[in-house]
Amino acid sequence: MTALIEAASPHVMNTYGRLPIAMSHGEGVWVWDVNGKKYLDGLGGIAVNTLGHNHPRLVPALQDQIGKIIHSSNYYHVPGQEQLAKKLVELSGLTNAFFCSTGLEANEAALKMARKFGHGKGIERPEIVVYEHAFHGRSIATLSATGNTKVQAGFGPLVEGFIRVPLNDIEALERATKGNPNVVAVFFETIQGEGGIHPMRAEYLRQVRALCDERDWLLMIDEVQCGIGRTGKWFAHQWAGIRPDVMPLAKGLGSGVPIGAVVAGPKAAHIFGPGNHGTTFGGNPLAMRAGVETLRIMEEDGLVAHAGAVGEHLKQALQREIGSLPGVVEIRGQGLMLGIELDRPCGELLGRAAEAGLLLSVTADRVVRLVPPLILTQDEADQIVALLAPLVRDFLAQPR
Ligand SMILES: *Cc1c(COP(=O)(O)O)cnc(C)c1O
Repeated sequence: MTALIEAASPHVMNTYGRLPIAMSHGEGVWVWDVNGKKYLDGLGGIAVNTLGHNHPRLVPALQDQIGKIIHSSNYYHVPGQEQLAKKLVELSGLTNAFFCSTGLEANEAALKMARKFGHGKGIERPEIVVYEHAFHGRSIATLSATGNTKVQAGFGPLVEGFIRVPLNDIEALERATKGNPNVVAVFFETIQGEGGIHPMRAEYLRQVRALCDERDWLLMIDEVQCGIGRTGKWFAHQWAGIRPDVMPLAKGLGSGVPIGAVVAGPKAAHIFGPGNHGTTFGGNPLAMRAGVETLRIMEEDGLVAHAGAVGEHLKQALQREIGSLPGVVEIRGQGLMLGIELDRPCGELLGRAAEAGLLLSVTADRVVRLVPPLILTQDEADQIVALLAPLVRDFLAQPR
């Protein structure tokens, strides 16, 4: 790429290993960089750009909102908060929402709720069950809940009060919490995103729900990445027919406008009172409009079912083209949240794919992740496969 781009950010802190590419604009599932090169967006800004780029109904709505009011303050009522909360409650079967601006903030709020829930029951040192390979964010508390030592390295001492268990193993959960009166909540992603697209099994979700009911624990499900229609249900846990008590959301909720939410059911909706929690930007009129319009357009266009169907098509096509290659361990995930696990680290595929005109990511070292906009068509899904399959084939064929 051009020297101009490589040297473009000498004053920006170096917190990401960035590719020497800068995006200029987008249209649907396509983006163009500042040099005019075109890419098929299989990443969606990491599961954020639900409606793709320059959506013909979202953009005018946001322009309208910007011309009215961007930000007021949580000192006053924000009508958009009630509108979006009402919609989220309707879609989730829960009862109340709190608004913030990012995923880690939503998770941080959930962790605070769990602790206060415990204190309300006289538990002075509440403990929360979390999972291996989990990712919940990069604040001190959420990185402590995260199950990745790379995320934690250099930031100790970690926040205490977490018990870590493996996925999909109800006996392990029972063993780890046996006779412990301080447990207050179980916290996980329905499909782990950063951890490498690892789904919780429906049966396990039902078992954990039952255990939480039996023990009076909060079931807290981080749907920051897998929620908002991506798997073919509004929220991925709905495949198991269960409801959480607390559900953090963010990424796809605003189609690119920063937004986070914690949606809570009856057991958790009134844990916070005035003064317990807050954020300056959370729930501002622009973010609320983005959330309301995103969900409205998703409903009008049937994008939830669409994501499920196109995702299934994409998964089958990938399975057919590269699924049986030696070196492809597994293709997994649901809807438009798919991971292709290889038998070796494959970080370099990120750059090679971009060179070939495809945006994707590699997570957990060896898992190629596809989380494109939910407007992806079947034809565009086929184009992803046509770009990706030869890259994976060539990569696996090269000597190690
Ligand atoms: C991305 C992510 C987060 C963190 O969200 P930020 O907006 O980056 O703070 C938390 N949980 C899950 C499951 C995520 O995928």
